[in-house]
Amino acid sequence: MSDHDTIHDSVKTIMQNLPDGVRLLAAAKTRTPDEVKAAVDAGIQIIGYNYVQEAEQMYQIIGNRVQWHMIGHLQRNKAKKAVRLFDMIETIDSVRLAKTVDRRCAEIGKVMPVLIEINSGREENKAGVLPEQVDMVIEQIRGLSNIRIQGLMTMGPLTGDPEDARPYFQVTTEIFNRLKQAEIPQVKMRYLSMGMSNSYLVAIEEGANLVRIGTRLFGERQR
Ligand SMILES: *Cc1c(COP(=O)(O)O)cnc(C)c1O
Repeated sequence: MSDHDTIHDSVKTIMQNLPDGVRLLAAAKTRTPDEVKAAVDAGIQIIGYNYVQEAEQMYQIIGNRVQWHMIGHLQRNKAKKAVRLFDMIETIDSVRLAKTVDRRCAEIGKVMPVLIEINSGREENKAGVLPEQVDMVIEQIRGLSNIRIQGLMTMGPLTGDPEDARPYFQVTTEIFNRLKQAEIPQVKMRYLSMGMSNSYLVAIEEGANLVRIGTRLFGERQR
């Protein structure tokens, strides 16, 4: 089988087995245009990138027949480009970044759906808002006119065993449910983005409705 067929089959198989209401994002870092095209041909509707420039290059080729999500840490000096390109920024991790995204969106008359990234593993060198700081961050940014808070995203510590990720998904789901029930003005808790290739089934069990998968769709990364 060609790479194209392999990717096509992987996308189909994973999509067919997702429960209703769970959306699949293809994490496409380092993949070639042919690989990404194969995924889109097979039905991928959301592509995620960690870097603005890499996303821009692929956008030239794939265009807007899919949605584009920023899933990596966004540097504020890249926000201007990012808001033109992306349909959602999943990685808002500070009030400062939210304000920059808001301002850059205002300049082009766009309202950006965003997720708050939670540092559910409380890892020192990891991006994301600590669980106890989420309410404060939301309070400070929910009034911004050009972003819309639509949910939460988390990575969790990377380990070999998917079960190790479960507590971190649980922490994030608890916050998600609590915020949803609180019905905070301007905040719509719709998306809970958790789980990667090795952990997405656990993430779905714990309530994820957006999973970000790379390796299981495209194969091991070479670069
Ligand atoms: C690469 C990446 C993924 C997917 O990782 P795989 O293990 O290849 O499925 C998910 N989320 C983020 C933020 C990533 O950078």
